[in-house]
Amino acid sequence: MSEIIKCEKCGSEMKHYKKDSTAGMICESCGWGWVTTQFDEIYADETIYSVSFSKELAENKKALSLISHNTPNNFLTAKKLIENNEIILTGKASTIIDFLKDCKESNIEYKIEPAFPHEV
Ligand SMILES: [Zn+2]
Repeated sequence: MSEIIKCEKCGSEMKHYKKDSTAGMICESCGWGWVTTQFDEIYADETIYSVSFSKELAENKKALSLISHNTPNNFLTAKKLIENNEIILTGKASTIIDFLKDCKESNIEYKIEPAFPHEV
């Protein structure tokens, strides 16, 4: 199924490459090439993660404030969710990463299922 793409500069066969967060075509003879996709693993991750907090955080104003800013919950419902050990936020890695970063910055420990494979 793979069609041969010739290098515009020297006519050699172009090769696909994938490196770090970019992918594209490269000519191994002369080095000419281009980037076809630029992606982040986090955007390719289709897993739905669930974030929750331990009960002690029900009185933590920072945690409540973060939740009320990042979810449809207000302070009161956020507090109830934590007290009842309920899921605070669910979503793909790309949609919850900012929330996780905020938590980390505020030293708020969260629980996430399944294990989060990306750097926060
Ligand atoms: Zn070439």
